[in-house]
Amino acid sequence: MSSGPRFRFAPSPTGSFHVGGARTALHNWALARRLGGTFVLRIEDTDEARNRPEWTEGIIDALAWIGISADDPHFEGPHFQSGHADAHVAAAQRLHESGAAYYCDLTGQQVQDRAKELGITGYDGYSRDRGLEAGPGRVLRFRVPEGHTVVRDAVRGDVDFDNSTIEDFVLLRGNGTPMFLLANVVDDIEMQISDVVRAEEHLPNTPKQQMLWEALGHDAPRWAHVPVLVNEQRKKLSKRRDKVALESYRDEGILADAMVNYLMTLGWTPPRSEELGSEIFTWSELEDEFRLEDVTLSPAFFDVKKLVAFNKQYIKNMPIAAFLDAVDSELPDGWDRARFAAIAPHIVERLERLGDAPGVVDFLFLPDGTDPEIDAASWDKATKPEWSAALLSDVIEAYGSLDTDSWSTDVLKTTMEDLMGRYEIKLGKAQALPRVAVTGRSVGPPLFEALEVLGQAETVRRLQVAATILRSDAATD
Ligand code: GLU
Repeated sequence: MSSGPRFRFAPSPTGSFHVGGARTALHNWALARRLGGTFVLRIEDTDEARNRPEWTEGIIDALAWIGISADDPHFEGPHFQSGHADAHVAAAQRLHESGAAYYCDLTGQQVQDRAKELGITGYDGYSRDRGLEAGPGRVLRFRVPEGHTVVRDAVRGDVDFDNSTIEDFVLLRGNGTPMFLLANVVDDIEMQISDVVRAEEHLPNTPKQQMLWEALGHDAPRWAHVPVLVNEQRKKLSKRRDKVALESYRDEGILADAMVNYLMTLGWTPPRSEELGSEIFTWSELEDEFRLEDVTLSPAFFDVKKLVAFNKQYIKNMPIAAFLDAVDSELPDGWDRARFAAIAPHIVERLERLGDAPGVVDFLFLPDGTDPEIDAASWDKATKPEWSAALLSDVIEAYGSLDTDSWSTDVLKTTMEDLMGRYEIKLGKAQALPRVAVTGRSVGPPLFEALEVLGQAETVRRLQVAATILRSDAATD
């Protein structure tokens, strides 16, 4: 075991893996690695009604996808909380024996009725001095001491809780099973966790957990509560309202590096970003620079548009071989990979997601002799100028008579430039109709590069089909 600090990530496998969880995991991972410590993965699977094994697998896969690999020497686990129930109960018994906890036989309803009668909220400490022993239906409650609990938080500084606002909370349910607060602390103690870095929503639990650490004879860990992620309406991201599952972003073609960079820079800016004038960082830069003290206190807006913009940058900057590898699963099985590789360098700049690639180049993969589907609005616009039919027949003539060996991007471009002179138009205008004729659309990859890949015979054939349609349109007008 490494002698460095011990961090942990302790998800409950009760649904698909949330982007907020991924961010917490990355924070812990960055710190454990930079400080030469350990990242402990603990699956908090004690809620039997809500846990499913496939969700645990989903967490491990998702962590691996964002670079938190179980093979890394800093990684420990997974540990499963359900395997430690005996330790949780034993700790509860020790607390009972020392007087730090006591049994109470009131039902939930009775607690509520008393609170109403007394005009208070929560539990009033009714059984504190009744000396009850364990028994069916009896819950074990922690005896919250008087005074204040100060939580030292690396993100928020000291947070002072008045213990009089904290009720004697339940450690063991009436059926003897441990509550989250207890199980989480006992596991952290057993796993010698030194640093608890987690989402802000757990801050209200922290004074209670700190009291438990102390009552069990240990110094509390260093705490850090990182602000939650919110949506455009500044509401906490929720499974019902927002797309929060990490794998849904993976499945739609967001790259892991883009996701990691984006999540890490939510609510935190690497100090060097100003100097570098960039928001794009490698993992090792992020890991070197991440400090909890620099995380902002306000909730961070999880902006899908910005994530997509990051992704676009990453796709553009990928070595082409890596791009071909990553995009492969997005391409239809029958597509000629060599043909795709020929056009790939010319499309990477325009892709927001890997999954956009097939739609951008599909016109190159129609069986020879198949006409692309022509977008009507693009066609109307491209055929409007009165010179369009004449230019098209000039292009057919010029491209058709090129030597097959000279069929290349450069020659196609200069040939078109020569023709433009006759019509006194710019290249963009001259390309419009050939582009629609060959690709079916008015936007797409650079035209001459695409024509080179498509080849002379099929290019000229599609241009001729367009010329025929134009003539028949003219005849019926
Ligand atoms: N299982 C808890 C959760 O997923 C863990 C909280 C913690 O990190 O302490 O919210």
